[in-house]
Amino acid sequence: MSFRGYEAVIGIEIHVQLNTASKIFCSDATNFDAGDNENVSPVSAGMPGTLPVVNKKAIEYGIKTGLALGCEIRKKSVFSRKNYFYPDSPKGYQISQYDLPICENGFITFKVNGVDKTVHISRAHLEEDAGKSTHSGEYTLINLNRAGIPLLEIVTGPDMRTPAEAAEYGRAIRQIVRYLDVCDGNLEEGSMRCDCNVSVRKEGSTQFGTKVEIKNVNSFRFVEKAIEYEIERQIDAVERGEKILQETRLWDPDKNRTFAMRSKEDAQDYRYFPDPDLLPLIVTKEMIDEIKSKLPELPIARAKRFQDAHGLPEYDATVLTTEKSWADFYEETAQESKNFKASSNWIMTELMRELNSANKEIAHSPITPKQLGRMIALIDNGTISGKIAKTVFQEMWNSGKDPEVVIKEKGLVQITDPATIEKLVDEVLAANVQSVEDHKTGKKKNLFGFFVGAVMKASKGQANPELVNKILQEKLK
Ligand code: ADP
Ligand code: MG
Repeated sequence: MSFRGYEAVIGIEIHVQLNTASKIFCSDATNFDAGDNENVSPVSAGMPGTLPVVNKKAIEYGIKTGLALGCEIRKKSVFSRKNYFYPDSPKGYQISQYDLPICENGFITFKVNGVDKTVHISRAHLEEDAGKSTHSGEYTLINLNRAGIPLLEIVTGPDMRTPAEAAEYGRAIRQIVRYLDVCDGNLEEGSMRCDCNVSVRKEGSTQFGTKVEIKNVNSFRFVEKAIEYEIERQIDAVERGEKILQETRLWDPDKNRTFAMRSKEDAQDYRYFPDPDLLPLIVTKEMIDEIKSKLPELPIARAKRFQDAHGLPEYDATVLTTEKSWADFYEETAQESKNFKASSNWIMTELMRELNSANKEIAHSPITPKQLGRMIALIDNGTISGKIAKTVFQEMWNSGKDPEVVIKEKGLVQITDPATIEKLVDEVLAANVQSVEDHKTGKKKNLFGFFVGAVMKASKGQANPELVNKILQEKLK
């Protein structure tokens, strides 16, 4: 895509906070709702003489994510010290992985405006998070609860060319880590943080321009806007004959612009070296195979299966696989109802609408997948009409009761007895003599629908519509 004769080059680094119960190098808890500095042991506080011990779960989560991203898993990786001073990082260094990261060389495919885009994952490495500083007037408060929470930093190649691609990439990563249940994907709480690297070059040029890093962007909409802004800012600068400075910038969502934070360090400034307190990390083939065997089916594969094996349209399959919890709900419903498309329809329309308006997660739906599946089966076997099912559904939503119970309590069973329906038809026709006349003489067209509606109404929606049609047709011949 051209921006005033320039092409943008974008690479993204996402820090994914792994949702392990304890920190990566000690047993402190990781809960977000803890009081200030409640989850801080001498290890998190960086006390001299403490020693890190690696958390196996964090390693597993790193490998799991790497495998889902098609990465090679390094059998022997190394934790290094990245040295820099920061008030909320009391050791004076961060334990990270440098030249030997645990995951390398993967890829991810996702859709941008309906078209597949594949982005190379150059690496994903494990590291510890820093604490948090809260600046307030003349002082700064330090909370070390977050210090030592495991992060997986996922780094792409410089493969994206538009702000929209970058935002969709971020959403795709979020979807995967949520599927894997290694991260809650909550950007507002900082569970995922995006650094966007952006450069521009004249269209046709094969050399990359100098990149600028926009750090810690906390929503995918902002990723898109920040990159949009940055592309224009850089093109303006180049057009004025200025050199782009390699620097770190921040996004200001109120002013809709990026601003300079600091000039960017080079790797050598960090004086990386292997952490002498930690042994090289060895993962066995058995461990990798074990994790691989437990990987859930990922969204793209699952959507494809919903299309191929369930015959769902691409749209349904994509929507239903947005979240693993939705896809699981759908599959359980479909298994019970044996009607794939109807299950999809009920979930995507009625259920989603109720969940949205009640602001509920599907996991907390008062209607279980089994109940919904049975309700759909009751439509298909003629016990209730599709129209009555809406009432049944509503009552199930309100009360959490089984469909059979609702139908029984409310007397909503479909009327399939021809004699009963005939009686209703006769009553309607007798009450509308003029209309019957107009219909028979052809004076008024389209009256048939009016009669059907009137009979359905008289039956409180419970008459079997096909029978109503059939009997009306006979009577009006
Ligand atoms: P650094 O050492 O500055 O962190 P890396 O080589 O690790 O740089 O790259 C960081 C991110 O920046 C990666 O996602 C990479 O794809 C991206 N990147 C590298 N060069 C460029 C460039 N010229 N323009 C845009 N993005 C780039
Ligand atoms: Mg980097």
